[in-house]
This record gives sequence, C-alpha cells and structure tokens, in this order.
Amino acid sequence: MIHVESLTKYYHDLCAVDQINFDIQKGEIVGLLGPNGAGKTTTLRMLTGFLRPTSGSIRVKDYDIDKYPLEIKKLIGYLPESAPLYHDMLVYDYLNYVADIRELDGGRKKSRIHQLADLCGINEIMHQPIGVCSKGYKQRVGLAHAMMNDPEILILDEPTAGLDPNQIAEIREIIRRIGKEKTIIISTHILSEAEAACNRVIIINQGKIVADGGIETLRQSAGGEYLINISLKNAGFEAAESELRSIDGINRVNKVVGEEGEEILHLRLTCRSSADLREEIYQRVKPTDWILLELHQETQSLEKVFQELTKES
Ligand code: ATP
Repeated sequence: MIHVESLTKYYHDLCAVDQINFDIQKGEIVGLLGPNGAGKTTTLRMLTGFLRPTSGSIRVKDYDIDKYPLEIKKLIGYLPESAPLYHDMLVYDYLNYVADIRELDGGRKKSRIHQLADLCGINEIMHQPIGVCSKGYKQRVGLAHAMMNDPEILILDEPTAGLDPNQIAEIREIIRRIGKEKTIIISTHILSEAEAACNRVIIINQGKIVADGGIETLRQSAGGEYLINISLKNAGFEAAESELRSIDGINRVNKVVGEEGEEILHLRLTCRSSADLREEIYQRVKPTDWILLELHQETQSLEKVFQELTKES
C-alpha cells in the first residue's frame, strides 16, 4: 500500500529524516513512535505530499508522489497535529464546506455528513460553533474532515495530544472502529497509545528508524536479554546453577532471597533474547529429583525498550 525508500529531509543543514525505509500493507494500523523532534511530523508531511523530500521516494498504491501528488492526496485522509478548523463556523456548515471541497454532490454529501456524525460521535454538536466545542470534540470534527472522501489511508498526527483520559479513550475507540476497514498511521510519543491502538510500531529517533515490528518483537529487541524466574524444591544452588548455566542462551543465574526458613530455591535467569528457553529448562529439571514449582518468563516493559532505543546517542 505504502512504500518508502531512502526518504530524507533536510531543513537547511538539519537532517530531520535520514534515509528511512518502510512498507505498510493494506489494513495495518501502524504507530510511528518517537520522542519530541524525532522526525515524525516531517515524515507524515512528506507522506501526505505537504512537504517535498530532499531525496528518496514515496509510492502509494501504484502512484509515485513526484508524478501523481493529487491522486495520492485523494487516497489519504490527514489529521495534522492541531486540526486546522474554522472556529467561527458551525460544525455542520464546516463539514458541508469540506464536502464541497471534496466534490461530493447533493445526496451523497448529506448522507456522508450524517454517517460521519454517527461514526465520530458529533451529532449533538452539529449546530454549535466549532470554537465553543471541547478539544475532544474539535478533534472528532478534524477526524470527520479527514474521512470525508472515505480515503483508504488515514494519517493521524498525535490524535490524542492534549485530551483528557475520557476523550483519549473515545478517540481510540473511534480509531479502532475505523481501523477495521482502513490502513492507518498514527504518530505519537505516548507508548500506551501505540500499544492500545496499533498492531505494528515503527520507532524513529533523530530521523532514523531504530525499530520496526509488532509490540512483542519490540519488547525482545532492546537490551538483547530477558528474564526467567524459576522456583525449585529439593535443589541446592551450586548444582542448579551448574545445570542451568550449561544451557546455551542462559547468561547468568542469580539466587533470589526468599522468605526466612523457606526451603525453596528461587532463581532469576538472565537469558539472551530470541530463543524461548522454557522447554529446555523443563527438560533439564525433569530427570532430577528437583520439583519445579514455578517457571515464569518476564516480558520487558515497552517503556524500557523505548528508552533504550531512543536514548541520546
Ligand atoms: P514532535 O513530537 O515534537 O512534534 P516530531 O517527531 O514530529 O516532534 P518533527 O516536527 O518532524 O519531529 O521535527 C524534526 C526536527 O526537525 C526537529 O529538530 C525540528 O526542530 C526540526 N524542524 C521541524 N520543522 C522544521 C522547519 N519547518 N524548519 C526547520 N526545522 C524544522
């Protein structure tokens, strides 16, 4: 659906986006994640044809952005960081005006506006001036605007920035509903946002892509290590350590202090990422007279992954 190759943007001598590559398939909901100034907005502006890349290429469906910018704009609905709305207009009049720009004719125009009012939950404010609406409602009007021509792709730049938790939940719910039929890119610096709404995350830092994959893959990608906790009955530390250390992929075996007088050995195993070692651990314990009371693999928190991938170089 979207193919980006060696995309680069310089503002004078500042490299805001540096040779990034990615492909996005139809139906994916992708989070573009990164700290402030990472290059997210610049990337989205280039994808939507608002900014010309310094170099590199963007193809949407079969259209090259250099040759067919207008066709690409028709395929994309874009909600910029702060939705540019006319605050003196009534919501209905504004959407009517957007429908005119999008060249929707009489009957189709009316039914589309009603459809969007239902989808975005703005029926009750249709006859209010945009300026008096809450930030959450303004954002919904911006979403309705972006979706007026029923685009195949939606690009949302920090759609929940500045909203309260209830409004955030409502916008997420709308995105989830829309996401069943569309390809969506959402930029955010809030991890929980990406976790809640996206099935894939691209992390960008200082203009470069530092990670690209599903949430679970990302958890395993930083630091290169993860932890397994096990508890054994009837086992001595030296024997257990020596047995477990001989498993390829276990880097360290540490004893965890348990309750006083407890006869159970609690161990924390630091493992190299990429392999799931739980089965091998079980197989090693099985022939012994140790009793395996617990075996638990800890997933790394996404916050830690994000911090590691985006710390200042
Ligand atoms: P934020 O989350 O703060 O919006 P971002 O990840 O969207 O950040 P960009 O807005 O793309 O990042 O900015 C990337 C870099 O380019 C930053 O260093 C920013 O200061 C710079 N930049 C952005 N727009 C311009 C511009 N028009 N002229 C010069 N520099 C710019």
